Amino acid sequence: MKKTTIIFHPKYFEVYASDPAAAQGRLDGAYKLLQTKGYEFIEPEIAQEDDILLVHTKAHFERIASKSSHLLTLSLLSAGGAICASEMAMSGTFSFGLIRPPGHHASADSCWGFCFFNNIAVAIKKLLNENKIKNALIVDFDLHFGDGTNGIFLNEDRVVYHHMDSITSLENFLNSTDNVDIVGVSAGFDRYINDWGGLLTLEDYKRLGEILGMFASHHANGRIFSVLEGGYNHRELGDCIYSYLTGLEQAIN
Ligand SMILES: [Zn+2]
Repeated sequence: MKKTTIIFHPKYFEVYASDPAAAQGRLDGAYKLLQTKGYEFIEPEIAQEDDILLVHTKAHFERIASKSSHLLTLSLLSAGGAICASEMAMSGTFSFGLIRPPGHHASADSCWGFCFFNNIAVAIKKLLNENKIKNALIVDFDLHFGDGTNGIFLNEDRVVYHHMDSITSLENFLNSTDNVDIVGVSAGFDRYINDWGGLLTLEDYKRLGEILGMFASHHANGRIFSVLEGGYNHRELGDCIYSYLTGLEQAIN
């Protein structure tokens, strides 16, 4: 069975801020589990300032840069991870960006919620700008609404942003959605039963993968990439990701 490629850089282990997404050890368990399961890992390139300016103002870029060079490097590397994941999807490889900092609360000129640059928005906008795609669907199943992503694409007809309310509502939405050139997924796992949301089980994450994989398979030429957003249970984040990827891979193959 075709497996997902994990986009990861060792610097993502580094603590770049004092928030829950940046906490020491947050990605360690997920990294180890996905390695144990035999996934291939590749290291992304760092994003360029021009990539960030596709969706953010110069003033926002400079505000992040002025906080610390370490934070800027990690933020650029996270956006680079999303770009890499999207490019792999374009070439027919399933990809998951095990990246941080997250991005969906980063707007054009501001940010909050442990986010600095909007990773998934940068990746999608770059594909559009390079005429590699004509349109895209972004599905966000994090516990929190991705106000940054939503705002960035509010006046952009080529990109639909959809935040999941429930798995049933997502199925209904996808059943009424037209074909797109690529699906990007803001994969936050803070709805997990043992995380902040206390809502979704591992079976639910597998089902989410199946639903999104089926849609991508039939309506997006199999092009789908996912990037990590929230998810704060250090011990079980890997199980959530693995369940999601298992569903995705089964649906697409
Ligand atoms: Zn969240």
